[in-house]
Amino acid sequence: MDFFPKSRRRGHFSSAFALHRPAIYQIHTLLCYPRDTMTVTLGFAEPVDEEFQSESFPSKIGGQPRWIDPEHPLNVSQATCDECQKPMALLMQLYAPEDEPASAFHRMMYVFVCRTGSCHRAPASRCMRVYRAQLPEDNAVYEETGEDVEDDDIVWTTKSSVTPAKQCVVCGMAGTKACSKCHERMYCSRDHQLADWEAGHRAQCGSSEQEPEDHVRKLRNQRYPELVIASEEEEFSDGEGDDDDGESDSDSEDEIKPEDGAVVPVTDEKAVDSEVDVDKAFLVFQRRIQQNSDQVIRYARAPGGEPEKPLYVSDAGIPEDVPECELCGVQREFEFQIMPQMLNFLGLKADDPLSIDWGTLLVYSCPNSCDVKDGQFAREAIYRQQFSSQGIGDKYMRALQGDDSGFTKQFDALDM
Ligand SMILES: [Zn+2]
Ligand SMILES: [Zn+2]
Ligand SMILES: [Zn+2]
Ligand SMILES: [Zn+2]
Repeated sequence: MDFFPKSRRRGHFSSAFALHRPAIYQIHTLLCYPRDTMTVTLGFAEPVDEEFQSESFPSKIGGQPRWIDPEHPLNVSQATCDECQKPMALLMQLYAPEDEPASAFHRMMYVFVCRTGSCHRAPASRCMRVYRAQLPEDNAVYEETGEDVEDDDIVWTTKSSVTPAKQCVVCGMAGTKACSKCHERMYCSRDHQLADWEAGHRAQCGSSEQEPEDHVRKLRNQRYPELVIASEEEEFSDGEGDDDDGESDSDSEDEIKPEDGAVVPVTDEKAVDSEVDVDKAFLVFQRRIQQNSDQVIRYARAPGGEPEKPLYVSDAGIPEDVPECELCGVQREFEFQIMPQMLNFLGLKADDPLSIDWGTLLVYSCPNSCDVKDGQFAREAIYRQQFSSQGIGDKYMRALQGDDSGFTKQFDALDM
């Protein structure tokens, strides 16, 4: 499998209608896409590499958060599960800069989820959080230090005057508590102090030696595996006119029938036989994603344009009454969705108590990217939509990826 197709780019997601300032920022160009044609940018998971480690604005799954303003990490009280009261973990962060307003020149979306499986029976608003953080071009943190010729990208470097705040050694949120013995290890909460103690700090406290690999690994297991999210514009043949994949037929979305839903394993009679398991939205969903079956993100922000609809996985559970932005009072709009394929990259097994599940996660944000006070975060809204019938998600995903897919092998080899 080729992990770095040429058309994929590192970490840039932005709205389809934005006239991006330096040409090098463009993923979408107005010239190519008339305003009534919404383009969706897809995100794909790829292994981390050296280049990623030095990126100032990574889009990524898992690991510790990389804060847009390292002097102001999120406080754990803003990402604590309402169900179990434990700190949430970073699911992913997405660099999604905007031209307007100027204060969103750098813009990062962070998604946190509780790692306890049973908490995910509660509404997403209780066990998940989304935050928006942004900075103007002229800010106290970054300076432009050149251009990466190969990637046609501006290189931003953290100013030497920046003193990163202390972060929890486990989760990366603000480290407001210190180990009471050595006063050196920092934690967000008592939960993570205990986790570090049990992972090996009990024996290590006060020692000047490096943490043993086992300790590092145990801490890493408290987080989701870290992967790069690369972006690529969706190319989708809807079967009308172009027939380039050789399989398209003249079916419109309205004519999709359950028997077209061939991605579920044929051996699974229950899933194939049961039409009630497969609602129309699911079939549209399935048809749309099977041409890019490993997509983990669909980014479709359209501020100033007609708000784009998510690709629902079911006719049921469509979010209603999305609340207005808490800061400016404007109606939030759909920005991006997290696909069920991302679950395959979280290092979880189906019977794991840490196992979590969704059909899709829908993120709605302020269409104005309104100003956020220095060093603070704006909370945005997240909804979970499940597949219409219990279990179809699992079968579907296994059929899509297979237990022995190339990526899974790569994944194991990387020891993540
Ligand atoms: Zn929880
Ligand atoms: Zn922590
Ligand atoms: Zn200590
Ligand atoms: Zn707002």
